[in-house]
Amino acid sequence: MTLPSLGEDAKRLCQQLLRIDTTNPPGNERPAAELVARELREAGLDPQLLDSAPSRTNVVVRHRGSGKLPPLLLTAHLDVVEADPTKWRRPPFSGEEFEGCLWGRGAIDMKNMAAMCVAILRRLARTGTRLDRDIIFAAVADEEAGCDLGSRFLVEKHRSLVEAEYAIGESGGFSLHLGDTTFYPVQVAEKGFCWVRARLTGEPGHGSMPRHDSVVTALGEALTKLGTTPLPLHPTRYVADFLDALRARQPALIQPLVKLVARPQLLARVARLVPGASIARSFSALLSNTAAATVVRAGNKTNVIPGLAEFEIDGRTLPGQTDDDLLRELRAVLGADVELEIIKSAPPIVTEPVASPVFDAIRAEVESREPGAQVVPYLIPGFTDAKYFTQTGARWYGFSPVKIEKGSGIRFADMFHGHDERVPVAGLAWGAEVLDAVVRKISVA
Ligand SMILES: [Zn+2]
Repeated sequence: MTLPSLGEDAKRLCQQLLRIDTTNPPGNERPAAELVARELREAGLDPQLLDSAPSRTNVVVRHRGSGKLPPLLLTAHLDVVEADPTKWRRPPFSGEEFEGCLWGRGAIDMKNMAAMCVAILRRLARTGTRLDRDIIFAAVADEEAGCDLGSRFLVEKHRSLVEAEYAIGESGGFSLHLGDTTFYPVQVAEKGFCWVRARLTGEPGHGSMPRHDSVVTALGEALTKLGTTPLPLHPTRYVADFLDALRARQPALIQPLVKLVARPQLLARVARLVPGASIARSFSALLSNTAAATVVRAGNKTNVIPGLAEFEIDGRTLPGQTDDDLLRELRAVLGADVELEIIKSAPPIVTEPVASPVFDAIRAEVESREPGAQVVPYLIPGFTDAKYFTQTGARWYGFSPVKIEKGSGIRFADMFHGHDERVPVAGLAWGAEVLDAVVRKISVA
């Protein structure tokens, strides 16, 4: 029997996964987890289904190696964010092939990775390939809502199943076209999050007799201050390294700007010159802690001036910064009258050192397949399952490779949680081959 190519297998699996609605909330990852488990079992593997809550299912499987090297963890989340079908050119849970792409919520974030990993594990099992590491694959629930029922659950309740020396997951490995150069960012650091409740209290009153010191007015002022005051800049080496890589390849574009890196107050201007609004926004978020007001609550009767108003802040902390640093910066903006309380937080993570056989293998595989392309270490403003999987001591590399051709009209950054999420079929096959090569290369003693 001839085996399908990795690309064919990954495509078929990705298409099937895209047809399963795992919008979180509520998640309901079980049908997707069962599909993954069925595919792995069919290849002779022995996956475990692990429920963290009813129908919130994780799958973990292990392809045994000789044990000469510690395990490698491959991981992808199975849940997706919501999609408004009226804004899409193809239905978001169709998995339809159209214009050379598979369309659907999760095509990039990150059922493509789940499909590639399953295809790679199936191939290893069916060919009886014996590597020097165990290759673990964890397909997890609940990443999009904070990881509690997925990676966190696995690390806290089933730690031995997912312990590894290295982990490869979200996010990175996509083609980023800047000027004449294609970059492949690999996530080696991510910001922490620090969600904060802000509370204002004051005298309640009757709506017929307005008071200038109403908490609702103060709430409006606080929101305006928060929304319009930039937090202090904190240059990190991740940003400096990234700019250095750009400078090496794009002197004309970047050279005049790099001098600004030494002057933090001017650094923010660099961000504005990065082409593309979404890239610029994400770049700006790498220069400082950030705080976005999200949930707002005050009053519940039209004729009553409330004595309490609250809002929630989605705060993000840079590597090197703590929750206390962020609270200090927020107090400086909001003043002493706004009480701040942390709802939930997790620190930033960094892969130290960046250099490793994994990073070297990624670089070698990508740059040899695409001459002229450059792999660059990258800090992301959001958070991923890295938050929890690194708690076992694993060093994390965000690398879910997909090749996106220049001029295809697909911008990776816009695909994340955006409308018309899709993955190029050829780019998915490319990714499966690259990832497979990396896994094999780093798993020989
Ligand atoms: Zn994701």
